[in-house]
Amino acid sequence: MASEKFLLTKIIATLGPASSDVRMIKKLIAAGVRAFRINFSHGSFSDYDRLLVNIRAAQKQSGKYVAILGDLSGPKIRVGKVIDEGVKLKRGDEVIFQKKEITGGSAGYEHTFSTTFPPFIDEVNAGEKILLDDGNIEMICMSKSGKGKNAQIHCKVRNGHLLTSAKGINLPESNLSVPSLTEKDIECVAYAVKNEFDFLALSFVRSDKDIRVLKKLLTQYRVRPDGLDITGGDLGFSTLYDDDFIPVISKIEKPQAIENLDSILEETDGIMVARGDLGVEMDLAEVAILQKHIVQKCSDFGKPVIVATQMLQSMIIEPVPTRAEVSDVANAIIDGADAVMLSGETAVGNYPEETVKMMNRIAAKTNAYVKNIDDNSDDLIKYKGPLNRKATMARGVHQIARDIKAKFIITWTHSGGSTVFLSQQRIEIPLLAFGENKKRLSQLSLLYGITPMYMEQPASGSNFIEKVNGLLIQNKWAKKGDAVIIVASEPITKRGITNRLVIHYVGENIHD
Ligand code: PEP
Repeated sequence: MASEKFLLTKIIATLGPASSDVRMIKKLIAAGVRAFRINFSHGSFSDYDRLLVNIRAAQKQSGKYVAILGDLSGPKIRVGKVIDEGVKLKRGDEVIFQKKEITGGSAGYEHTFSTTFPPFIDEVNAGEKILLDDGNIEMICMSKSGKGKNAQIHCKVRNGHLLTSAKGINLPESNLSVPSLTEKDIECVAYAVKNEFDFLALSFVRSDKDIRVLKKLLTQYRVRPDGLDITGGDLGFSTLYDDDFIPVISKIEKPQAIENLDSILEETDGIMVARGDLGVEMDLAEVAILQKHIVQKCSDFGKPVIVATQMLQSMIIEPVPTRAEVSDVANAIIDGADAVMLSGETAVGNYPEETVKMMNRIAAKTNAYVKNIDDNSDDLIKYKGPLNRKATMARGVHQIARDIKAKFIITWTHSGGSTVFLSQQRIEIPLLAFGENKKRLSQLSLLYGITPMYMEQPASGSNFIEKVNGLLIQNKWAKKGDAVIIVASEPITKRGITNRLVIHYVGENIHD
Protein backbone atom coordinates (compact mmCIF):
# COMPACT_ATOMS: atom_id res chain seq x y z
CA MET A 1 0.00 0.00 0.00
CA ALA A 2 3.03 2.31 0.27
CA SER A 3 2.58 3.25 -3.38
CA GLU A 4 -1.07 4.30 -2.80
CA LYS A 5 -1.96 7.26 -5.00
CA PHE A 6 -4.53 9.63 -3.59
CA LEU A 7 -6.50 10.90 -6.54
CA LEU A 8 -8.33 14.22 -6.42
CA THR A 9 -10.27 14.61 -9.70
CA LYS A 10 -11.79 11.20 -10.46
CA ILE A 11 -11.86 9.26 -13.72
CA ILE A 12 -14.98 7.45 -14.93
CA ALA A 13 -14.57 4.85 -17.68
CA THR A 14 -17.42 3.59 -19.83
CA LEU A 15 -17.18 -0.17 -20.26
CA GLY A 16 -17.68 -1.91 -23.59
CA PRO A 17 -16.15 -4.59 -25.81
CA ALA A 18 -12.63 -3.12 -25.38
CA SER A 19 -12.79 -3.28 -21.59
CA SER A 20 -15.18 -5.98 -20.47
CA ASP A 21 -12.87 -8.64 -18.99
CA VAL A 22 -11.52 -8.75 -15.44
CA ARG A 23 -7.92 -8.33 -16.60
CA MET A 24 -8.61 -5.06 -18.42
CA ILE A 25 -10.95 -3.72 -15.71
CA LYS A 26 -8.19 -4.35 -13.14
CA LYS A 27 -5.70 -2.49 -15.35
CA LEU A 28 -8.10 0.44 -15.63
CA ILE A 29 -8.50 0.59 -11.83
CA ALA A 30 -4.71 0.46 -11.43
CA ALA A 31 -4.38 3.28 -13.97
CA GLY A 32 -6.78 5.47 -11.95
CA VAL A 33 -10.44 4.67 -12.75
CA ARG A 34 -12.66 5.06 -9.70
CA ALA A 35 -16.09 4.66 -11.34
CA PHE A 36 -17.38 2.60 -14.24
CA ARG A 37 -20.29 3.61 -16.44
CA ILE A 38 -22.58 0.97 -17.85
CA ASN A 39 -24.38 2.62 -20.76
CA PHE A 40 -27.85 1.10 -21.09
CA SER A 41 -28.02 2.47 -24.66
CA HIS A 42 -25.76 -0.37 -25.78
CA GLY A 43 -25.82 -4.09 -25.02
CA SER A 44 -28.27 -6.42 -23.32
CA PHE A 45 -29.02 -7.40 -19.73
CA SER A 46 -26.83 -10.48 -20.10
CA ASP A 47 -23.95 -8.21 -21.22
CA TYR A 48 -24.48 -6.03 -18.11
CA ASP A 49 -24.61 -9.16 -15.91
CA ARG A 50 -21.18 -10.11 -17.17
CA LEU A 51 -19.80 -6.58 -16.71
CA LEU A 52 -21.06 -6.44 -13.12
CA VAL A 53 -19.50 -9.79 -12.22
CA ASN A 54 -16.21 -8.65 -13.79
CA ILE A 55 -16.19 -5.19 -12.16
CA ARG A 56 -16.85 -6.74 -8.75
CA ALA A 57 -14.12 -9.36 -9.23
CA ALA A 58 -11.62 -6.73 -10.41
CA GLN A 59 -12.54 -4.42 -7.53
CA LYS A 60 -12.00 -7.21 -5.00
CA GLN A 61 -8.64 -8.17 -6.49
CA SER A 62 -7.51 -4.52 -6.65
CA GLY A 63 -8.53 -3.73 -3.07
CA LYS A 64 -10.01 -0.40 -4.20
CA TYR A 65 -13.56 0.88 -4.01
CA VAL A 66 -15.14 1.80 -7.35
CA ALA A 67 -18.61 3.14 -8.09
CA ILE A 68 -20.96 1.72 -10.72
CA LEU A 69 -22.98 4.27 -12.64
CA GLY A 70 -25.92 3.13 -14.79
CA ASP A 71 -26.71 5.49 -17.65
CA LEU A 72 -30.40 5.41 -18.65
CA SER A 73 -30.98 6.16 -22.35
CA GLY A 74 -33.98 8.42 -21.67
CA PRO A 75 -36.32 9.68 -24.37
CA LYS A 76 -33.93 9.60 -27.31
CA ILE A 77 -35.99 9.43 -30.49
CA ARG A 78 -34.50 7.34 -33.26
CA VAL A 79 -35.07 6.80 -36.97
CA GLY A 80 -36.93 3.53 -37.65
CA LYS A 81 -35.64 0.75 -39.86
CA VAL A 82 -33.76 1.85 -43.00
CA ILE A 83 -32.61 -0.41 -45.88
CA ASP A 84 -29.29 -2.11 -45.04
CA GLU A 85 -27.15 0.03 -47.33
CA GLY A 86 -28.67 3.24 -45.90
CA VAL A 87 -29.96 6.28 -47.80
CA LYS A 88 -27.58 9.00 -48.96
CA LEU A 89 -29.29 12.32 -48.29
CA LYS A 90 -28.01 15.50 -49.92
CA ARG A 91 -28.70 19.21 -49.58
CA GLY A 92 -32.08 20.19 -51.03
CA ASP A 93 -33.58 16.68 -50.83
CA GLU A 94 -37.16 16.42 -49.63
CA VAL A 95 -37.69 13.95 -46.81
CA ILE A 96 -40.91 12.68 -45.25
CA PHE A 97 -41.32 11.36 -41.71
CA GLN A 98 -44.51 9.45 -41.11
CA LYS A 99 -46.28 7.78 -38.21
CA LYS A 100 -46.79 4.45 -39.99
CA GLU A 101 -43.91 2.05 -39.66
CA ILE A 102 -41.98 1.45 -42.90
CA THR A 103 -38.48 0.52 -44.01
CA GLY A 104 -36.97 3.85 -45.03
CA GLY A 105 -35.40 3.82 -48.50
CA SER A 106 -37.37 0.76 -49.71
CA ALA A 107 -39.18 0.83 -53.09
CA GLY A 108 -41.78 3.61 -53.06
CA TYR A 109 -40.32 5.08 -49.86
CA GLU A 110 -36.94 6.28 -51.15
CA HIS A 111 -36.94 9.36 -48.90
CA THR A 112 -39.62 8.37 -46.38
CA PHE A 113 -38.82 7.26 -42.83
CA SER A 114 -40.58 6.29 -39.61
CA THR A 115 -39.37 6.91 -36.04
CA THR A 116 -39.44 5.23 -32.63
CA PHE A 117 -41.79 7.97 -31.30
CA PRO A 118 -44.64 8.48 -33.79
CA PRO A 119 -46.32 11.37 -31.83
CA PHE A 120 -43.31 13.46 -32.81
CA ILE A 121 -45.02 13.98 -36.21
CA ASP A 122 -47.86 15.90 -34.47
CA GLU A 123 -45.56 17.87 -32.19
CA VAL A 124 -42.94 19.25 -34.60
CA ASN A 125 -43.95 22.52 -36.24
CA ALA A 126 -43.08 23.99 -39.63
CA GLY A 127 -39.86 26.01 -39.39
CA GLU A 128 -38.28 23.82 -36.65
CA LYS A 129 -34.87 22.21 -37.02
CA ILE A 130 -34.44 18.41 -37.10
CA LEU A 131 -30.96 16.92 -36.59
CA LEU A 132 -30.09 13.30 -37.31
CA ASP A 133 -27.02 11.21 -36.53
CA ASP A 134 -25.40 13.58 -33.97
CA GLY A 135 -26.03 16.55 -36.25
CA ASN A 136 -24.41 15.09 -39.37
CA ILE A 137 -27.74 15.55 -41.12
CA GLU A 138 -29.69 18.77 -40.67
CA MET A 139 -33.15 19.46 -42.06
CA ILE A 140 -36.02 21.89 -41.56
CA CYS A 141 -39.68 20.90 -41.20
CA MET A 142 -41.39 22.72 -44.10
CA SER A 143 -45.01 21.56 -43.80
CA LYS A 144 -47.36 18.94 -42.40
CA SER A 145 -50.04 16.83 -44.09
CA GLY A 146 -52.55 14.09 -43.28
CA LYS A 147 -54.34 13.42 -40.01
CA GLY A 148 -54.20 10.81 -37.23
CA LYS A 149 -52.35 7.66 -38.25
CA ASN A 150 -51.70 9.13 -41.71
CA ALA A 151 -49.96 12.28 -40.48
CA GLN A 152 -46.63 13.19 -42.09
CA ILE A 153 -44.10 15.99 -41.95
CA HIS A 154 -42.25 17.23 -45.02
CA CYS A 155 -38.67 18.38 -44.52
CA LYS A 156 -35.90 19.89 -46.61
CA VAL A 157 -32.31 18.71 -46.12
CA ARG A 158 -29.77 21.46 -45.34
CA ASN A 159 -26.78 19.21 -44.67
CA GLY A 160 -26.71 15.71 -46.08
CA HIS A 161 -25.00 12.45 -45.09
CA LEU A 162 -25.69 8.71 -45.23
CA LEU A 163 -28.72 7.79 -43.08
CA THR A 164 -28.90 4.28 -41.60
CA SER A 165 -31.27 2.54 -39.15
CA ALA A 166 -31.72 3.73 -35.56
CA LYS A 167 -29.75 6.96 -35.89
CA GLY A 168 -30.63 9.49 -33.14
CA ILE A 169 -32.99 12.40 -33.83
CA ASN A 170 -32.45 15.68 -31.96
CA LEU A 171 -35.17 18.33 -31.98
CA PRO A 172 -33.66 21.31 -30.18
CA GLU A 173 -36.46 23.71 -31.13
CA SER A 174 -39.48 21.49 -30.41
CA ASN A 175 -41.32 20.90 -27.15
CA LEU A 176 -42.11 17.21 -27.16
CA SER A 177 -44.42 15.24 -24.89
CA VAL A 178 -42.05 12.28 -24.92
CA PRO A 179 -41.98 10.76 -21.40
CA SER A 180 -38.77 11.23 -19.39
CA LEU A 181 -38.50 7.48 -18.79
CA THR A 182 -39.19 5.02 -21.59
CA GLU A 183 -40.41 1.47 -20.96
CA LYS A 184 -36.87 0.29 -21.49
CA ASP A 185 -35.57 2.82 -18.94
CA ILE A 186 -38.07 1.51 -16.39
CA GLU A 187 -36.74 -2.03 -16.92
CA CYS A 188 -33.18 -0.69 -16.56
CA VAL A 189 -34.07 1.04 -13.27
CA ALA A 190 -35.43 -2.26 -11.91
CA TYR A 191 -32.23 -3.95 -13.06
CA ALA A 192 -30.03 -1.28 -11.43
CA VAL A 193 -31.90 -1.53 -8.13
CA LYS A 194 -31.72 -5.34 -8.11
CA ASN A 195 -28.00 -5.24 -8.90
CA GLU A 196 -27.18 -2.49 -6.39
CA PHE A 197 -25.84 0.15 -8.76
CA ASP A 198 -24.29 3.15 -6.98
CA PHE A 199 -25.66 5.94 -9.20
CA LEU A 200 -28.22 6.32 -11.99
CA ALA A 201 -27.81 8.95 -14.71
CA LEU A 202 -30.89 10.22 -16.54
CA SER A 203 -30.49 11.37 -20.16
CA PHE A 204 -32.27 14.30 -21.85
CA VAL A 205 -33.54 15.89 -18.65
CA ARG A 206 -35.68 18.91 -19.54
CA SER A 207 -36.93 20.06 -16.14
CA ASP A 208 -37.04 19.14 -12.45
CA LYS A 209 -40.24 17.18 -13.21
CA ASP A 210 -38.25 14.59 -15.20
CA ILE A 211 -36.02 13.99 -12.16
CA ARG A 212 -39.02 13.63 -9.85
CA VAL A 213 -40.39 10.86 -12.10
CA LEU A 214 -37.20 8.83 -11.62
CA LYS A 215 -36.96 9.64 -7.91
CA LYS A 216 -40.57 8.52 -7.41
CA LEU A 217 -39.81 5.22 -9.10
CA LEU A 218 -36.72 4.76 -6.89
CA THR A 219 -38.87 5.52 -3.85
CA GLN A 220 -41.28 2.78 -4.94
CA TYR A 221 -38.31 0.43 -5.08
CA ARG A 222 -37.39 1.57 -1.56
CA VAL A 223 -33.98 2.95 -2.56
CA ARG A 224 -34.96 6.52 -1.77
CA PRO A 225 -36.94 7.86 1.13
CA ASP A 226 -40.21 9.57 0.32
CA GLY A 227 -39.94 13.35 0.09
CA LEU A 228 -36.22 13.51 0.86
CA ASP A 229 -35.27 17.15 1.06
CA ILE A 230 -31.77 17.45 -0.30
CA THR A 231 -30.28 20.64 1.03
CA GLY A 232 -27.27 20.63 -1.25
CA GLY A 233 -23.73 19.57 -0.74
CA ASP A 234 -24.25 16.09 0.61
CA LEU A 235 -25.87 14.12 -2.24
CA GLY A 236 -28.72 13.30 0.09
CA PHE A 237 -26.37 10.95 1.94
CA SER A 238 -27.20 12.54 5.28
CA THR A 239 -30.57 10.88 5.23
CA LEU A 240 -30.80 8.25 7.90
CA TYR A 241 -32.56 5.99 5.39
CA ASP A 242 -29.43 5.38 3.48
CA ASP A 243 -28.25 1.85 3.06
CA ASP A 244 -29.60 1.32 -0.45
CA PHE A 245 -29.80 4.94 -1.49
CA ILE A 246 -29.28 5.52 -5.25
CA PRO A 247 -28.42 9.14 -6.13
CA VAL A 248 -29.63 10.55 -9.45
CA ILE A 249 -27.25 12.29 -11.86
CA SER A 250 -29.06 14.52 -14.38
CA LYS A 251 -27.45 14.73 -17.81
CA ILE A 252 -27.53 18.28 -19.15
CA GLU A 253 -27.77 18.07 -22.93
CA LYS A 254 -30.88 20.04 -23.95
CA PRO A 255 -31.58 23.78 -24.24
CA GLN A 256 -34.60 23.31 -21.95
CA ALA A 257 -32.27 21.96 -19.24
CA ILE A 258 -30.08 25.06 -19.50
CA GLU A 259 -33.19 27.24 -19.13
CA ASN A 260 -34.31 25.25 -16.07
CA LEU A 261 -30.87 24.69 -14.57
CA ASP A 262 -31.61 26.20 -11.14
CA SER A 263 -34.71 24.09 -10.50
CA ILE A 264 -32.89 21.00 -11.86
CA LEU A 265 -30.02 21.67 -9.44
CA GLU A 266 -32.49 21.93 -6.55
CA GLU A 267 -33.95 18.54 -7.42
CA THR A 268 -31.00 16.47 -8.60
CA ASP A 269 -28.24 14.80 -6.60
CA GLY A 270 -25.57 15.42 -9.24
CA ILE A 271 -25.02 16.62 -12.80
CA MET A 272 -23.29 15.35 -15.93
CA VAL A 273 -22.29 17.82 -18.63
CA ALA A 274 -23.17 15.50 -21.53
CA ARG A 275 -21.28 17.39 -24.21
CA GLY A 276 -22.08 14.91 -27.00
CA ASP A 277 -25.77 15.68 -27.29
CA LEU A 278 -25.35 19.18 -25.83
CA GLY A 279 -23.20 20.03 -28.86
CA VAL A 280 -25.97 18.83 -31.16
CA GLU A 281 -28.94 20.35 -29.35
CA MET A 282 -27.23 23.73 -28.89
CA ASP A 283 -24.76 25.76 -30.90
CA LEU A 284 -21.57 23.67 -30.93
CA ALA A 285 -19.56 26.88 -30.56
CA GLU A 286 -21.11 27.40 -27.12
CA VAL A 287 -20.11 24.06 -25.56
CA ALA A 288 -17.12 25.38 -23.57
CA ILE A 289 -19.09 28.34 -22.18
CA LEU A 290 -22.02 26.10 -21.24
CA GLN A 291 -19.64 23.69 -19.51
CA LYS A 292 -18.17 26.54 -17.43
CA HIS A 293 -21.63 27.88 -16.58
CA ILE A 294 -22.96 24.46 -15.51
CA VAL A 295 -19.88 23.53 -13.45
CA GLN A 296 -19.96 26.91 -11.65
CA LYS A 297 -23.67 26.47 -10.86
CA CYS A 298 -22.96 22.99 -9.46
CA SER A 299 -20.30 24.49 -7.22
CA ASP A 300 -22.74 27.17 -5.99
CA PHE A 301 -25.38 24.53 -5.24
CA GLY A 302 -22.83 22.08 -3.81
CA LYS A 303 -23.75 19.36 -6.31
CA PRO A 304 -21.20 16.94 -7.77
CA VAL A 305 -20.51 17.34 -11.48
CA ILE A 306 -19.08 15.07 -14.16
CA VAL A 307 -17.71 16.44 -17.45
CA ALA A 308 -18.19 13.92 -20.24
CA THR A 309 -17.61 13.04 -23.88
CA GLN A 310 -14.81 13.19 -26.42
CA MET A 311 -12.27 14.14 -23.73
CA LEU A 312 -9.48 12.06 -25.30
CA GLN A 313 -11.45 11.02 -28.39
CA SER A 314 -8.48 10.60 -30.74
CA MET A 315 -7.10 7.89 -28.41
CA ILE A 316 -9.87 5.60 -29.70
CA ILE A 317 -7.48 5.13 -32.62
CA GLU A 318 -4.13 6.70 -31.68
CA PRO A 319 -1.82 5.96 -28.71
CA VAL A 320 -1.38 9.68 -27.88
CA PRO A 321 -4.03 12.39 -27.65
CA THR A 322 -4.07 15.72 -29.44
CA ARG A 323 -2.75 18.75 -27.55
CA ALA A 324 -6.24 20.24 -27.71
CA GLU A 325 -7.66 17.18 -25.90
CA VAL A 326 -5.02 17.40 -23.16
CA SER A 327 -5.96 21.03 -22.72
CA ASP A 328 -9.68 20.15 -22.64
CA VAL A 329 -9.24 17.63 -19.79
CA ALA A 330 -7.12 20.11 -17.82
CA ASN A 331 -9.71 22.86 -18.34
CA ALA A 332 -12.55 20.65 -17.07
CA ILE A 333 -10.45 20.03 -13.93
CA ILE A 334 -9.69 23.74 -13.54
CA ASP A 335 -13.43 24.47 -13.96
CA GLY A 336 -13.97 22.23 -10.91
CA ALA A 337 -15.31 18.87 -12.13
CA ASP A 338 -15.58 16.08 -9.56
CA ALA A 339 -14.90 13.58 -12.31
CA VAL A 340 -13.96 13.46 -15.97
CA MET A 341 -15.49 10.71 -18.06
CA LEU A 342 -14.24 8.52 -20.90
CA SER A 343 -16.76 7.02 -23.32
CA GLY A 344 -15.69 5.42 -26.62
CA GLU A 345 -12.03 5.70 -25.55
CA THR A 346 -12.42 2.91 -22.98
CA ALA A 347 -15.54 1.19 -24.38
CA VAL A 348 -14.41 0.51 -27.93
CA GLY A 349 -10.97 2.15 -28.27
CA ASN A 350 -7.64 0.58 -29.16
CA TYR A 351 -5.90 1.99 -26.06
CA PRO A 352 -8.19 1.92 -23.00
CA GLU A 353 -5.42 1.57 -20.40
CA GLU A 354 -3.14 4.14 -22.04
CA THR A 355 -6.05 6.60 -22.22
CA VAL A 356 -6.73 6.31 -18.47
CA LYS A 357 -3.02 6.65 -17.68
CA MET A 358 -2.89 9.79 -19.82
CA MET A 359 -5.97 11.25 -18.15
CA ASN A 360 -4.53 10.49 -14.73
CA ARG A 361 -1.27 12.25 -15.58
CA ILE A 362 -3.14 15.33 -16.78
CA ALA A 363 -5.25 15.26 -13.59
CA ALA A 364 -2.20 15.02 -11.31
CA LYS A 365 -0.43 17.95 -13.00
CA THR A 366 -3.58 20.06 -13.12
CA ASN A 367 -4.60 19.32 -9.51
CA ALA A 368 -1.15 20.50 -8.37
CA TYR A 369 -1.54 23.69 -10.43
CA VAL A 370 -5.01 24.37 -8.98
CA LYS A 371 -3.74 23.74 -5.42
CA ASN A 372 -1.11 26.37 -5.92
CA ILE A 373 -3.72 28.92 -7.04
CA ASP A 374 -6.08 27.93 -4.23
CA ASP A 375 -3.34 28.31 -1.61
CA ASN A 376 -3.07 31.97 -2.60
CA SER A 377 -6.78 32.73 -2.93
CA ASP A 378 -9.04 34.47 -0.42
CA ASP A 379 -12.21 32.84 -1.69
CA LEU A 380 -12.61 29.76 0.45
CA ILE A 381 -16.37 29.48 0.15
CA LYS A 382 -17.15 27.13 -2.69
CA TYR A 383 -20.66 26.14 -1.73
CA LYS A 384 -23.04 29.11 -1.61
CA GLY A 385 -26.03 27.25 -0.15
CA PRO A 386 -27.32 27.30 3.44
CA LEU A 387 -24.47 27.12 5.95
CA ASN A 388 -25.69 24.26 8.12
CA ARG A 389 -23.40 22.44 10.56
CA LYS A 390 -21.75 20.23 7.94
CA ALA A 391 -21.27 23.04 5.44
CA THR A 392 -19.69 25.42 7.99
CA MET A 393 -17.49 22.62 9.27
CA ALA A 394 -16.26 22.00 5.70
CA ARG A 395 -15.55 25.69 5.23
CA GLY A 396 -13.62 25.85 8.52
CA VAL A 397 -11.64 22.74 7.61
CA HIS A 398 -10.59 24.43 4.38
CA GLN A 399 -9.12 27.40 6.26
CA ILE A 400 -7.40 25.22 8.89
CA ALA A 401 -6.02 22.76 6.31
CA ARG A 402 -4.43 25.62 4.44
CA ASP A 403 -3.04 27.39 7.51
CA ILE A 404 -1.57 24.26 9.03
CA LYS A 405 -0.50 22.71 5.70
CA ALA A 406 -2.41 19.54 6.49
CA LYS A 407 -1.34 16.41 4.65
CA PHE A 408 -4.76 14.71 4.82
CA ILE A 409 -8.30 15.34 5.88
CA ILE A 410 -9.62 12.22 7.55
CA THR A 411 -13.25 11.42 8.29
CA TRP A 412 -15.10 8.69 10.10
CA THR A 413 -18.16 8.32 7.97
CA HIS A 414 -21.52 6.68 8.75
CA SER A 415 -23.72 8.02 5.96
CA GLY A 416 -21.09 10.00 4.01
CA GLY A 417 -22.91 13.36 4.24
CA SER A 418 -20.12 15.35 5.93
CA THR A 419 -17.50 13.80 3.69
CA VAL A 420 -19.44 14.94 0.62
CA PHE A 421 -19.58 18.51 1.97
CA LEU A 422 -15.81 18.38 2.47
CA SER A 423 -15.39 17.07 -1.09
CA GLN A 424 -17.54 19.91 -2.43
CA GLN A 425 -15.25 22.44 -0.71
CA ARG A 426 -12.49 21.39 -3.17
CA ILE A 427 -9.76 21.50 -0.52
CA GLU A 428 -7.05 20.09 -2.86
CA ILE A 429 -5.84 17.70 -0.15
CA PRO A 430 -6.65 13.97 -0.14
CA LEU A 431 -9.67 13.15 1.95
CA LEU A 432 -9.44 9.71 3.56
CA ALA A 433 -12.97 8.53 4.34
CA PHE A 434 -13.04 5.59 6.75
CA GLY A 435 -16.28 3.70 7.32
CA GLU A 436 -17.98 0.33 7.48
CA ASN A 437 -20.79 0.92 4.98
CA LYS A 438 -19.23 -0.63 1.85
CA LYS A 439 -21.97 0.60 -0.47
CA ARG A 440 -21.37 4.15 0.69
CA LEU A 441 -17.59 3.75 0.33
CA SER A 442 -18.10 2.70 -3.31
CA GLN A 443 -20.33 5.71 -3.95
CA LEU A 444 -17.86 8.14 -2.36
CA SER A 445 -15.11 6.95 -4.69
CA LEU A 446 -16.67 8.89 -7.62
CA LEU A 447 -16.37 12.21 -5.82
CA TYR A 448 -13.58 14.75 -5.82
CA GLY A 449 -10.73 14.14 -3.40
CA ILE A 450 -12.18 11.17 -1.53
CA THR A 451 -10.25 7.92 -1.02
CA PRO A 452 -12.67 5.57 0.75
CA MET A 453 -11.23 2.99 3.17
CA TYR A 454 -12.91 0.24 5.13
CA MET A 455 -12.55 0.22 8.92
CA GLU A 456 -14.63 -1.46 11.60
CA GLN A 457 -16.49 0.92 13.87
CA PRO A 458 -13.92 2.34 16.33
CA ALA A 459 -14.97 2.24 19.99
CA SER A 460 -14.17 5.90 20.63
CA GLY A 461 -12.76 9.04 19.04
CA SER A 462 -9.31 8.41 20.52
CA ASN A 463 -9.42 4.80 19.33
CA PHE A 464 -10.10 6.13 15.77
CA ILE A 465 -7.19 8.57 15.95
CA GLU A 466 -4.87 5.79 17.18
CA LYS A 467 -5.91 3.46 14.36
CA VAL A 468 -5.52 6.18 11.72
CA ASN A 469 -2.16 7.20 13.15
CA GLY A 470 -0.95 3.61 12.88
CA LEU A 471 -2.11 3.31 9.25
CA LEU A 472 -0.49 6.59 8.19
CA ILE A 473 2.88 5.56 9.61
CA GLN A 474 2.79 1.86 8.60
CA ASN A 475 1.92 2.70 5.00
CA LYS A 476 4.35 5.65 4.90
CA TRP A 477 1.50 7.94 3.82
CA ALA A 478 2.66 10.48 6.39
CA LYS A 479 5.59 10.90 8.75
CA LYS A 480 5.82 11.79 12.41
CA GLY A 481 4.89 15.43 12.94
CA ASP A 482 2.79 15.85 9.76
CA ALA A 483 -0.49 17.64 10.44
CA VAL A 484 -3.78 15.94 9.62
CA ILE A 485 -7.35 17.07 10.26
CA ILE A 486 -9.84 14.60 11.64
CA VAL A 487 -13.58 15.16 11.25
CA ALA A 488 -15.99 12.84 13.07
CA SER A 489 -18.87 12.71 15.49
CA GLU A 490 -18.63 12.63 19.28
CA PRO A 491 -19.47 10.00 20.37
CA ILE A 492 -18.03 8.41 17.23
CA THR A 493 -20.67 5.67 17.24
CA LYS A 494 -23.49 8.20 16.80
CA ARG A 495 -24.51 9.00 13.24
CA GLY A 496 -25.78 12.29 11.83
CA ILE A 497 -24.03 14.59 14.32
CA THR A 498 -20.66 15.44 12.79
CA ASN A 499 -19.49 17.81 15.51
CA ARG A 500 -15.81 17.13 16.10
CA LEU A 501 -12.74 18.55 14.41
CA VAL A 502 -9.29 17.54 15.63
CA ILE A 503 -5.94 18.88 14.46
CA HIS A 504 -3.61 15.98 14.97
CA TYR A 505 0.14 15.73 14.46
CA VAL A 506 1.04 12.23 13.36
CA GLY A 507 2.70 10.32 16.22
CA GLU A 508 1.42 12.73 18.87
CA ASN A 509 0.45 11.15 22.21
CA ILE A 510 -3.27 11.77 22.69
CA HIS A 511 -3.49 10.21 26.16
CA ASP A 512 -3.01 11.79 29.63
C1 PEP B 1 -23.37 12.69 -24.11
O1 PEP B 1 -24.28 12.92 -24.92
O2 PEP B 1 -22.37 13.42 -24.01
C2 PEP B 1 -23.47 11.55 -23.19
C3 PEP B 1 -22.64 11.40 -22.18
O3 PEP B 1 -24.48 10.65 -23.39
P1 PEP B 1 -24.40 9.32 -24.31
O4 PEP B 1 -22.99 8.82 -24.21
O5 PEP B 1 -25.40 8.42 -23.71
O6 PEP B 1 -24.76 9.81 -25.66
